[in-house]
Amino acid sequence: MSPTTAAAADRASQGAAEGAAPWPHQIHCCAEACGYDIPPVTPIVEEHRLHQRICPCCQTVDRAALPADVESGGYSPRLTALVGTLGSTFHLSHLKIQRLLHEAFGVRISTGGISCIRRRLNSLLEQPVKEAHLWLQGQPILQADETIYPVGNADGNNPDGRAGWVWVLRNPLVTVFELGLSRSKAAAQQLIGDTSSAF
Ligand SMILES: [Zn+2]
Repeated sequence: MSPTTAAAADRASQGAAEGAAPWPHQIHCCAEACGYDIPPVTPIVEEHRLHQRICPCCQTVDRAALPADVESGGYSPRLTALVGTLGSTFHLSHLKIQRLLHEAFGVRISTGGISCIRRRLNSLLEQPVKEAHLWLQGQPILQADETIYPVGNADGNNPDGRAGWVWVLRNPLVTVFELGLSRSKAAAQQLIGDTSSAF
């Protein structure tokens, strides 16, 4: 037995004895067939009835309150997050979100309901996005860029029909996007923050 072959045999027997992973020549081939499936999804519907009474003396209306962990809009945090992700990360229109929710999850929701969810998400995420942006502005190395982006006037904030821009500021941990109507130096400085100490 040559020294090389002896060493290999040694290592193989050590591996077998210690329960280590087998050497490549010890691996047996096998055929596997994976079949993926998705279970049928039906929405979970919780009904909350809020009883109310009117005082016969002073006509004051007294109504029960929803439990603290129940969203008053009727859409759970999970459904709310899904609508937000479909509309932002996956760029789906309200109509496509409506159709997907119905066909894949059996959830019926109006496009107005989707608008409500997105408006609510907007206000819920405002503070976390500000905090992420501020944190990024304090980082030593950043990447920033901008590109043209269709911005309509649905919110009344673009009455002159100016071109819209999406700005991005990122580092390996956090990415912040901002929509605006300018690609000026001032807009870049506003995005990046105080760069006086960076140069
Ligand atoms: Zn009363």
